[in-house]
Amino acid sequence: MAVAKFPPEPSSSPAAQLIPHWIGGAAVTGSGVRLPVFNPATGETVRQVALAGSADVEAAVASARAAQPAWAQTPAVRRARVLAGFLALLNEERDALAALITQEHGKVFSDAQGEVTRGIEIVEFACGIPQLLKGAFTDQVSTGIDNWTLRQPLGVVAGITPFNFPCMVPCWMFPLAIACGNAFVLKPSERDPSAAVFMAQLLKRAGLPDGVFNVLQGDKLAVDGLLDHPDVRAISFVGSTPIAHYIYQRGAQHGKRVQALGGAKNHMVVMPDADLEQAVDALIGSAYGSAGERCMAISVAVLVGDTADKMLPKLAARARELRVCDGMEAQAEMGPVINQAAVERIRGYIEDGVKSGAQLVVDGRRHPVSGADFAVPGRERGFFLGATLFDQVKPEMRIYREEIFGPVLAVVRVPDFAAAVNLVNAHPMANGVACYTRDGNVAREFARRIEVGMVGINVPIPVPMAWHGFGGWKGSLFGDMNAYGEEGVRFYTRQKSVMQRWPESTPKGAEFAMPTAK
Ligand code: NAD
Repeated sequence: MAVAKFPPEPSSSPAAQLIPHWIGGAAVTGSGVRLPVFNPATGETVRQVALAGSADVEAAVASARAAQPAWAQTPAVRRARVLAGFLALLNEERDALAALITQEHGKVFSDAQGEVTRGIEIVEFACGIPQLLKGAFTDQVSTGIDNWTLRQPLGVVAGITPFNFPCMVPCWMFPLAIACGNAFVLKPSERDPSAAVFMAQLLKRAGLPDGVFNVLQGDKLAVDGLLDHPDVRAISFVGSTPIAHYIYQRGAQHGKRVQALGGAKNHMVVMPDADLEQAVDALIGSAYGSAGERCMAISVAVLVGDTADKMLPKLAARARELRVCDGMEAQAEMGPVINQAAVERIRGYIEDGVKSGAQLVVDGRRHPVSGADFAVPGRERGFFLGATLFDQVKPEMRIYREEIFGPVLAVVRVPDFAAAVNLVNAHPMANGVACYTRDGNVAREFARRIEVGMVGINVPIPVPMAWHGFGGWKGSLFGDMNAYGEEGVRFYTRQKSVMQRWPESTPKGAEFAMPTAK
């Protein structure tokens, strides 16, 4: 069956274009509330999204439930072939998907292409599902008895995702979940919801049976509907820490399996022996890339000994020169933030930092030369801010303790390595961390002692590859399994142990003692 193109060509006014749910292999508009979706670079409404009501939640879960048993019965190798078809289509459509992401999220186009590529890598991993699901077998555990373990799907599982990676984060979840034989309901962010429907269409074109992958557009109502629904067996969540904690508690209350990845405050420690040019490049890219709206963005530079005096002038110059514009422009280094509320929140943090006594070295609220309010020529209604750099930040300040999720870098000065490790380990969030040094022993000790889930040695954003799995510690992850990798397979399956005997025809009578090897 031909699948209508999404998003449609812009023949009607953009605001009239509706981003639908995707239920049972078809676009469903629903009758509920609609929310505008903006292009953050222009500040204009590009589409509207249908928000689910409880009837839509019911329909999405029912569609998944109906499709799941036959999908689970489909041999894993055939499920893998559908994913291989999806992989080929994702590769073909990579740029179209990246452009859609830039249009609704604002990140620069090359960054959006990178995001799609990181999603593609998970699909590649999921294509190996026959090998990943291979069980363990022990011959002759007792005379005439064999024992083996296999992993079976859970049933209907759901994913709830944040705005900052509308393709990659859903790809942390659904390729493995459906490869394992589950049916999936994705509740993407309501701020950039088109990528989810775009991928749903590619899955259908790849031959995925209707109902195995569903998209439920919506907000808290849709999320709560999934959390409370008795047919949803597991919830994968990625978003801010307070919501992750809520999802974990409410899901667990209903007896569901939950992995809930939360927010971050990622530090980069720079030792005096590091290559400081490299460290400056790394800080600029990882603090201001994607306007700081990455869960692995570096938001704190921990500068050891005299490195702050050497690095600050370079960091400040680079922050002032950053090319901030519409992400579709070839020269763009940083695009807008997601919406006007984010602009206000980030401006509020900058003000708070100044009031609490941090030294504002570069003020992203103002144009670095004219001093006027920050704006991008030709995009005056866009949600832009420049790069902000603070020095002399102290651990008790709000700009240190809280996740700002914007282009703001805080410099904390510490005297030595031990102080740097203690500072990082005392922070309640522990998603990613990096250490720049040329000393192998320092690097090794750092990786061993640091209490953070993902560590980079001379790598600023150490997002693990598809087969290693992603997850922070402490307030950055509630639950006990990482996203994707082998832990992802474990999360979306449950183990069954089978013990088998084919007795000889002579009966031996009932046995009352605990069976042991004979
Ligand atoms: P968010 O927590 O506001 O929203 C995430 C999802 O939860 C969305 O789908 C949203 O609709 C839903 N949601 C929001 N409020 C809700 C509520 N009260 N009840 C139920 N559901 C609700 O996060 P965001 O602003 O979209 O994304 C940014 C956050 O995500 C940052 O904190 C970032 O660090 C985090 N993040 C973490 C990771 C990670 O791997 N740890 C990855 C990406 C993003």
